[in-house]
Amino acid sequence: MHKAMAESIYLDYQATTPLAPEVRTEMLKWMTGEEDDSLSGFANAHSAHAPARKAKAAIAIARAQIMALLPQQGQFVFTSGATEAINLALRGTMQRLALSEQLANRRNIITFASEHSAVLETCRTLGREGYKVDILPVMANGLVDWDIYADALTGDTALVAAMLVNNEIGVIQPIEQMAEMAHHKGALFFCDAVQGFGRVPIPQNVDMASVTAHKIHGPKGIGGLYFQDDTEPLPILFGGGQEEGLRPGTLSPALCAGFGIAAKLAHNGSADDLVHVRAIWEDVRAIFADWTLNGDADQRYHGNLNIRHDGVDVARLMSELRHIAFSAGSACSSASAKPSHVLSALGLSTETAKTSIRLGFGRYSDREKIIAACQEIADCAKAML
Ligand code: PLP
Repeated sequence: MHKAMAESIYLDYQATTPLAPEVRTEMLKWMTGEEDDSLSGFANAHSAHAPARKAKAAIAIARAQIMALLPQQGQFVFTSGATEAINLALRGTMQRLALSEQLANRRNIITFASEHSAVLETCRTLGREGYKVDILPVMANGLVDWDIYADALTGDTALVAAMLVNNEIGVIQPIEQMAEMAHHKGALFFCDAVQGFGRVPIPQNVDMASVTAHKIHGPKGIGGLYFQDDTEPLPILFGGGQEEGLRPGTLSPALCAGFGIAAKLAHNGSADDLVHVRAIWEDVRAIFADWTLNGDADQRYHGNLNIRHDGVDVARLMSELRHIAFSAGSACSSASAKPSHVLSALGLSTETAKTSIRLGFGRYSDREKIIAACQEIADCAKAML
C-alpha cells in the first residue's frame, strides 16, 4: 500500500492525488543531484553548460511523456498548474484575436455554469473588461444542453471553454461534438482536461487543453497548456523568454521530470487504473444504494462518486469521521458556507446541495479499506436520520 494512505483513509482524489513512488524517486534525482553528477540536479536548464544541458534534456523527455497523452498535432508549454494554463488559454487567445483583422469583432466567450472556478473567474474578468461572456446552464445530469448551446453559438463567438471530466460530479462532457459545433461557427474550443488527463482520451479536435500534474500522482506546482500549432495564445507573463517566450520563468527540472514520469505511468497503466476504480465504484455505490447520485449515471469517470441524502448533516458527518478524508461537494466550497456552484447548476436547492458528499478514489486506493470507510460513513449518516 502507498505510504500516504497509512495514517488516514483518503477519499479525496479529485482535490489531489498521492505522489507516485516512481515520481518521488525521479524528482529527488533532480533536487539533490544524480550520483554520477551532483551538479545537474540544481542546474538552470536555460544555461549553456553541461549540467544545464542535462537538465534541459530531462525537461525535453518529460514534455514528450506528457505529449503522448495529448492530441497528436500541437505543442505543450509548462505552467505553474492548470489555473495558470487556463488564464493563458482564455486571456492569451482573446488578446491574439483582438489583433486579428478578421476576428477582432468576435467578442463572445461561451462557458458553462458547472466549470471550475479557474475558468469561470477568468471568463468573468474578461466580461468586466468588455467581452460578452455567456455562462450557459447545464442539464440536471450535469451534461451540456444541446439546444441552449446551439442557440448561444453565433458568428460573434470567439471561444468556447468546457471541461472534459467534472471535478465535483465526475460527468464526462461530449467534448468532441461540442468542439465540432464551435468550429462550425468559426469559434475556437478550449478544454479544461485536468480531471480526465491520463484517464479519458482528450478529443483530437480541441484547439487548447489545460492539464496539471497533481491530479495524476505528480507534484503540485506544475501543469501546462496544449495548443494546436495555429492557435497559440499570446503570452500573459513577460520575462526571460523561456518556453519560446510564451511562458517565461525558470523551469524546475524536478517538477517537469516528476510530471513526465506521472504521465508515463498514466499512459502505461490507465487501463488497469480504470478497472480498479470501476470495481471500487460498484462496491461503494452499493453501500450508498439509498443515496441519490449527483450527475449522469452513465457518462462518467468512476473515480468520483458524488451523492446526497435528505437529512444528512454533512458538516457533522465530517467532524465525526475525521480519520476519513472526504469532501463536502467540493474541496473549494467545503471551506465556505456557500453551496457548491456545480450542485446549484444541477438545479439543487442550497439545502439539498448541502446534504451531498464527494468520495474520490484511484490507483492507490485499497479496496477493502475504502469499503470499510464508506460503510462507516453510511452508518454514521444513517444514525443522524
Ligand atoms: N480545473 C479543474 C477541473 C480542476 O479540478 C482543478 C483543480 O482543482 C483546476 C482546474 C486547477 O488546477 P491547479 O490546481 O493545477 O491550478
